[in-house]
Amino acid sequence: VSGGPRLLVTGGCGFVGRALVRRALAERGARVLNLDLMTYAARREPAADCRLVEGDIADGVLVSRLIDEFRPTAIVNLAAESHVDRSIVGPDPFVHTNIVGVHVLLKSALDHFRRLDAEGQRRFRFVQVSTDEVYGSIDPPGRFTEDSPYRPNSPYAASKAAGDCLVRAYHQTYGLPTVTTHGSNNYGVGQHPEKLIPKMICQALAGGPLPIYGDGRQVRDWLHVDDHCEAIWQALEQGGPGEHYNIGAGCELTNLEVVDEVCDAVDRLRPRSAGASTRQQIAFVADRPGHDRRYAVDSSKASTQLGWRPRRTFAEGLKEIVLAEIAQPSAQ
Ligand code: NAD
Repeated sequence: VSGGPRLLVTGGCGFVGRALVRRALAERGARVLNLDLMTYAARREPAADCRLVEGDIADGVLVSRLIDEFRPTAIVNLAAESHVDRSIVGPDPFVHTNIVGVHVLLKSALDHFRRLDAEGQRRFRFVQVSTDEVYGSIDPPGRFTEDSPYRPNSPYAASKAAGDCLVRAYHQTYGLPTVTTHGSNNYGVGQHPEKLIPKMICQALAGGPLPIYGDGRQVRDWLHVDDHCEAIWQALEQGGPGEHYNIGAGCELTNLEVVDEVCDAVDRLRPRSAGASTRQQIAFVADRPGHDRRYAVDSSKASTQLGWRPRRTFAEGLKEIVLAEIAQPSAQ
């Protein structure tokens, strides 16, 4: 579709990126160029009309060349190192991709933006897909708004916060039309088994221990990946330059409640076995250092300004993941 959006998507082989690319191609008639380093977290998904370039967002020569050739109407940055535990063990790749890589992308995006005509500039957006973790932890009943200060506590959150600050600076200083989204914890079919929900499902089905950090009372707001992608898309199409949008489904659960629901779903859905309840596999382990107690965002700006609303329920999303894992177990 020559008049449709031309998206440079980075990290389009990751969990959220794959869902966004699928939507962009199937529902939005977009042309997509996907730049992905194909780290351990990436998964190739055959997609017609989507060119995959294997490369690093921090490679300035490559990024400039791709942008010059493809002439995107928007750039959506989903490339990231995304796992908190890995960031604690080794923060270097987080600084490289989530900070240096974002800066390289911004420089090339600005060069490109300056060469667009007035209509192209009016339509252009640089979308930074960020996280609610940049705000740090908040006690109930508080919720972070887009004006809350950044107080990141893990190296992952700090690297995302630093990347977001560069995005803000490129808007404030150079007038690059940026939009930043702060999604809460995602779930859905195909997430890497290092993340809480797929890890617990794999372990529950395999009869292994279900490790829970500390007392398990850390609260997260669970957002289906498709609802997240719809919000990113609406922010891309309707978000004002320089705006931030919090994206949460208002589905607050403690980690213990999540694991309880996983156990229920697994016990209900797996082929009958004589075994006892999977709850007996729960094992409490030492807490993660710097573990935030609660993330909660106020998404009313996204709902009033973008018309976004979450559609998926946690129970139906969880059922889909368990059934998918039973049908095709993921390698751990
Ligand atoms: P993911 O780890 O599943 O995928 C990240 C993708 O980025 C992978 O395909 C990887 O190969 C690619 N990548 C990593 N470094 C790269 C580099 N230097 N150059 C090019 N590509 C690189 O992550 P995800 O869960 O899909 O998250 C995507 C984005 O959404 C991240 O920015 C994350 O902060 C944000 N986010 C995720 C969640 C969530 O719960 N998954 C919630 C809110 C925000």
